Amino acid sequence: MFKALLLTQQDKVTHAAVTELDEERLPEGDVTVRVQYSTLNYKDALAITGRAPVVRQFPMVPGIDFAGVVEASSAPDFKAGDAVLLNGWGVGETHWGGLAQRARVSAKWLQRLPEGMNARSAMTLGTAGYTAMLCVLRLEQLGLTPERGPVLVTGANGGVGSTAITLLARRGYEVVASTGRSDAHERLLALGAHRIVDRATLSEAGKPLQKEAWAGVVDSVGSHTLANACAAMKYGGVAAACGLAQGMDFPSSVAPFILRGVTLAGVDSVYAPMDVRRQAWEELARSLPTEIIDTMAQEVGLEDAAAHAEPLLAGRLPQGRVLVRID
Ligand code: NDP
Repeated sequence: MFKALLLTQQDKVTHAAVTELDEERLPEGDVTVRVQYSTLNYKDALAITGRAPVVRQFPMVPGIDFAGVVEASSAPDFKAGDAVLLNGWGVGETHWGGLAQRARVSAKWLQRLPEGMNARSAMTLGTAGYTAMLCVLRLEQLGLTPERGPVLVTGANGGVGSTAITLLARRGYEVVASTGRSDAHERLLALGAHRIVDRATLSEAGKPLQKEAWAGVVDSVGSHTLANACAAMKYGGVAAACGLAQGMDFPSSVAPFILRGVTLAGVDSVYAPMDVRRQAWEELARSLPTEIIDTMAQEVGLEDAAAHAEPLLAGRLPQGRVLVRID
């Protein structure tokens, strides 16, 4: 038997409860993992509250990521005792996920913990931290360097935003953090932001071309915020779009792209190829010492995870991340 946060649905209302389940109920897969830590991601909060159709079939164990130890494997690449992590691949959406003491998955979705990183640190960063790293690497592949000018990070107090600030600041970039939380200014400056802008200055419809301000953008917000960020890019600037906290729409014009040579790069963490994932996790392990990672999340037990979903969606959590201790 193992404990899992189980989502069921009745009359289109989602219910979440920690439940004891028989291991025989685990889904198909060639590797069984004893999960040690998972995270509460934005997508998990949507699944748990039923606010968006993240879950495709019920009952479902949410949790789009986890880290733990292989318990049994019939795949040649993994053996019992291996320390592993998983992000995405539809886990927690179409396949039972990480908010449980056991997970059974395809070996193709698993990767080893990077050298020097333990399961707790990996899930303190979680999918948000890994996505922030994917954004930073993408911007740099497209030519961004600290000398080119300031980098705007939107959704700054969130998981993606706050990790992106930390990573960019440690790589020498001048980071400008956009947030709606006046009580988060001190924290964001401590993470390495040079200055703060009020997210209200970006969240309404703006002109298609604005004064050149940003050499790079990491955007987890979408909608008018991303449109305004693109409109204020410097010539040849690059923006990485990974989220939709304000909205899925993109009410922009082609002006920044055809008149200023701006590049807008989409970043997806869920189906990113394995070599890209490995590069991102290894770079996270190299870039962030454990002492810094440890300050990035509040830790809760599996029993308390679901209660944090509403405050996460409402932006009421004091820190960007919720680490879920499973073992
Ligand atoms: P969080 O909830 O931790 O953070 C989101 C942040 O967005 C909030 O902290 C807030 O920042 C800002 N925000 C929220 N609502 C609004 C609004 N209405 N207008 C403007 N800003 C708003 O989420 P994550 O950081 O984990 O994820 C952020 C986004 O990225 C989500 O949409 C998520 O689905 C997406 N994502 C995508 C991935 C991918 O593979 N592409 C992977 C991971 C996440 P503040 O309080 O500072 O204003």
